[in-house]
Amino acid sequence: MQQKIHMVDLLGQYQKIKPEVDAALQQVIDRTAFINGPEVQDFSQAFAHYNRVSHVVTCGNGTDAIQIALMALGLGPGDEVILPVHTYVATAEIIALLRLKPVFVDVDPATFNINIKQLEAAISPQTKAVVPVHLYGQCADMEPLLAIARKHGLFVVEDAAQAVGATYTFADGTVKKAGTMGDMGCTSFFPSKNLGCFGDGGAILTNNETLATRARMIANHGQRIKYHHDIVGCNSRLDTLQAAVLKVKLPHLDAYNATRNKVAERYTALLRQQEKIILPTMAKNSSHVFHQYTVRVTGTDRDKVKEQLQAAGIPTMIYYPVPLHLQKAYRHLGYAAGAFPVAEELSATVLSLPIHTELAEEQQDYIIETLIHILDQSPR
Ligand SMILES: *Cc1c(COP(=O)(O)O)cnc(C)c1O
Repeated sequence: MQQKIHMVDLLGQYQKIKPEVDAALQQVIDRTAFINGPEVQDFSQAFAHYNRVSHVVTCGNGTDAIQIALMALGLGPGDEVILPVHTYVATAEIIALLRLKPVFVDVDPATFNINIKQLEAAISPQTKAVVPVHLYGQCADMEPLLAIARKHGLFVVEDAAQAVGATYTFADGTVKKAGTMGDMGCTSFFPSKNLGCFGDGGAILTNNETLATRARMIANHGQRIKYHHDIVGCNSRLDTLQAAVLKVKLPHLDAYNATRNKVAERYTALLRQQEKIILPTMAKNSSHVFHQYTVRVTGTDRDKVKEQLQAAGIPTMIYYPVPLHLQKAYRHLGYAAGAFPVAEELSATVLSLPIHTELAEEQQDYIIETLIHILDQSPR
């Protein structure tokens, strides 16, 4: 009997590194340095080294990372921050929470990332920052984006929560990791992310020492010296237990991402002939770490395909079913249906197939065969 198919298989991944992880966790417990134990610093350094970046500020989760980064920029109420409309809510939520104004831009239908041509048109005198999202595991087109930001004096805060380990190659041959190209980069260690811990965790990456210092203070109640609060901050920390898990997993990250690429290559090779779906496009200048393998079901009813896959024991996900501008919480921004045709079309057609480090070949064969069968039977 075939094993149950999951969107992610955290247990299978853990079992392969169980002795190392268990020992690391036990060591934290034995020391009882649960808050800011040495593992937090050790992991921060290792993660900075991995990303070739000068500063890593760890925090409680990826959403906090975005919040702390935007707070560190010192923006004021009403300042506009541009972001892609096809993304996870966290990006927009923090902008709104800080009383800044989210300004949406449509995405590129091929890469699902922010449309660079439309970005410049969205810039106003109030625009202060842009938050590109490296969606599904590949980088937004950062070279032209950075050029536009520089021209207009905008900060760039990357949301790299889905793309840890992805690389972007600039025209001069320089290669940089996701989250290290703008002023600051934010990432998440949510369990199902490519580098996930056993709960919540996040980090901010930057080469800017002033911003790193501010971010570190903000994450720690706005203080540099205990009980001396220079700025308004918050309380957001990476647990020592989570840092211990991450320290063990980080050396495996490139192998994890390579395994995801193998799964993706197989999907692409074996689904290439299917006319009712559009397979993911590889961006020109970015590697892909396949946080998601997302197809677009354009030749038949996506939701029916999803239901039939589910009935056959194959889970799939829709990231994301409602574009941000049509969400109730963001209606006050005044965008109408039709404002972002690509994002709206994606919400109706995207379907993410199971992809993770433990997906067995026979499981993938079953997924592919079943999907092809469903597509063959489905009406146009
Ligand atoms: C996961 C994710 C976040 C938020 O991370 P949390 O750790 O869940 O707060 C932000 N942005 C994107 C694009 C994400 O995928």
